[in-house]
Amino acid sequence: MSVLIFIDHLDGHIKKSSLEALSYGAQIAQQTGDTAEGVVVGSVSEDLAALGQYGVKRIHQVEHESLKQLDTQVATRIIAEVAQQTGAKTIVFSNNSTGKSIAPRLSVRLKAGLVPGATALPNTDGSFAVRKNVFSGKAFAHVTINTDVKIISLNVNAFTIIQGEGTAEVVPFNAKVDAPKVKITGTTKTSGKVALTEADVVVSAGRGLKGPENWGMVEELADHLGAALACSRPVADAHWRPHNEHVGQTGVAIAPNLYIAVGISGAIQHLAGVNRSKVIVVINKDPEAPFFKAADYGIVGDAFEVLPKLNEAVKKVKGLA
Ligand SMILES: Cc1cc2nc3c(=O)[nH]c(=O)nc-3n(C[C@H](O)[C@H](O)[C@H](O)COP(=O)(O)OP(=O)(O)OC[C@H]3O[C@@H](n4cnc5c(N)ncnc54)[C@H](O)[C@@H]3O)c2cc1C
Repeated sequence: MSVLIFIDHLDGHIKKSSLEALSYGAQIAQQTGDTAEGVVVGSVSEDLAALGQYGVKRIHQVEHESLKQLDTQVATRIIAEVAQQTGAKTIVFSNNSTGKSIAPRLSVRLKAGLVPGATALPNTDGSFAVRKNVFSGKAFAHVTINTDVKIISLNVNAFTIIQGEGTAEVVPFNAKVDAPKVKITGTTKTSGKVALTEADVVVSAGRGLKGPENWGMVEELADHLGAALACSRPVADAHWRPHNEHVGQTGVAIAPNLYIAVGISGAIQHLAGVNRSKVIVVINKDPEAPFFKAADYGIVGDAFEVLPKLNEAVKKVKGLA
């Protein structure tokens, strides 16, 4: 029996969230005495065998001309075939946009129980209870999966990547590849240098910045830290920043290792999308701003004074000044 892990990629590059899913799936396999196997849909430019370092023993790769762009309905059928032929009992996804699109479809197709948004390893001593966040991260629940085949999608940045040694055997898998029902006529790429959902560090700003012309100092800090940019909703609504940077309940939900929020009040709808960040730093001129309650570190001060000083300090530390 196996634990099958979906290996997601973008433009041929394996996503960091896939390395987390591989490490997580390999740990489950170790707990249950099964083999960790991976499945890749489409072609990748990276060395798949090297993913053995994350504990996966075998990788099934399905390549086909029509898989250049991922159609999640087609991918669901392919993964179902791989799962059935390899006797997978547990299937692991990252709970990113691809995982959110495929895992529920696969759950229906395989009549398999699904826990979306897992944050810890399942209890494999009998109950197969999986911990997940509920109520926008305000609480967590332990959800038991009773079906024979179990599907878990792991929250991004909820599990540490475990890198060891080893090489995976890469096996071509001859799956039936249906014609996609959806025709993609064009793709508009987001402009950020670092993908928001994959970023380790995110620098975010809100209405306290007064206008789009003041984002230079925010971008500078993000550049120095190799961070992705984010913003509060009113900032995106006012077209100061693109909507793909909007984080929160109605925007992107993120969980970076470091979230720096500048001139953002910390409304509950904003917090819902960022409160899984490991460390939160808040810069706000109002000491009563609600965000300080959720912050690990806070600077009470005017962003227009604090950010230039912070940029200078970071430049010095990085040897750029
Ligand atoms: C259904 C619903 C869904 C929503 N979804 C989202 C969502 O997904 N994401 C989201 O962000 N919001 C969302 N909102 C909006 C949310 O309620 C807040 O209105 C919003 O987050 C406020 O944005 P802000 O903090 O940038 O602006 P403000 O509330 O105007 O706060 C600006 C902050 O900047 C500080 N400030 C001002 N000048 C300076 C300065 N010079 N230096 C430092 N600090 C300064 C102020 O003290 C203040 O705390 C939603 C609302 C609703 C009703």
